[in-house]
Amino acid sequence: MSSDSAGTADGSDTDRIDADTPADTAGSDETAAEPPLRVENLRKEFGGITAVDGASFAVAEESLTGLIGPNGAGKSTTFNCITGIHEPTAGAVYLNGENIAGLAPNVVADRGLVRTFQIARELAEMTVLENLMLAPQRQQGETLYRSVLPTFRDDVIEEETELREAVWESLEFFEIDHLAEEQAGTLSGGQRKLLEMARALMTDPDILLLDEPFAGVNPSLETKLLDRINQLRAEEGLTFLLVEHDMDIIMEHCDPVIVMHQGQVLAEGPPEAIRNNERVVDAYFGDQQ
Ligand code: ADP
Ligand code: MG
Repeated sequence: MSSDSAGTADGSDTDRIDADTPADTAGSDETAAEPPLRVENLRKEFGGITAVDGASFAVAEESLTGLIGPNGAGKSTTFNCITGIHEPTAGAVYLNGENIAGLAPNVVADRGLVRTFQIARELAEMTVLENLMLAPQRQQGETLYRSVLPTFRDDVIEEETELREAVWESLEFFEIDHLAEEQAGTLSGGQRKLLEMARALMTDPDILLLDEPFAGVNPSLETKLLDRINQLRAEEGLTFLLVEHDMDIIMEHCDPVIVMHQGQVLAEGPPEAIRNNERVVDAYFGDQQ
């Protein structure tokens, strides 16, 4: 690349903030290789607009990684490129080391990377139970609910009764079983978020991408959702990437935090370092007043 550009490098102008953790790969030498998700020089243009401008970052296994940035920073477009909704203009998205850029969302989901979706209008008219019954099933792979849902085991679920049982266990896991027969459209904002996550988890993902899952969620449901996320990380080895505009939530619960600005990754590191990063503060507050 052009090494003659003055001062800072043009492509990878990111503050990588390592806390006091050196290159410590926590014991196991086998997993030192590839993170479950890695984005490399991702670029997405819409006509003349560059929404994502060479973003690179990795999401470590079992982490709850936060992705923040001011409006228009390119967070949602990055999500959409990762999950197959957009085909990137350039760059790569590695899922367990395989480049999945440009693959269709259902193919990406079948490989274990899933994002939550708002409950669409048709589904809003169905019951909570039906919403989960109709969630797409991943054909193969490790079973998510190894311990939580023993009925999943290792076979594809064919029997509706077995599926129903799994769905009920999921409803109980998210503590929305009392709402099973309610129309999804009548749920509160927070209850809907729980349903959306329950629905995404029915597909048995390895990595779950959440775009503003706490919008409209009251504090007690927010705590419940975060507890569930942490439980799924600890017990099922799931990995989470979370886009959230609420800085406080991110700073309190996510590690590491990735900050996007104008389509690029501005900084990346543990929350306390991000909070005190001058470039981050400038990106959020520099244009104001
Ligand atoms: P964020 O989620 O961080 O707020 P987005 O990824 O939604 O940012 O948007 C990044 C930039 O790309 C914005 O300037 C936005 O207007 C633009 N953009 C996003 N999606 C489209 C689209 N489908 N067509 C044209 N421009 C888009
Ligand atoms: Mg967005």
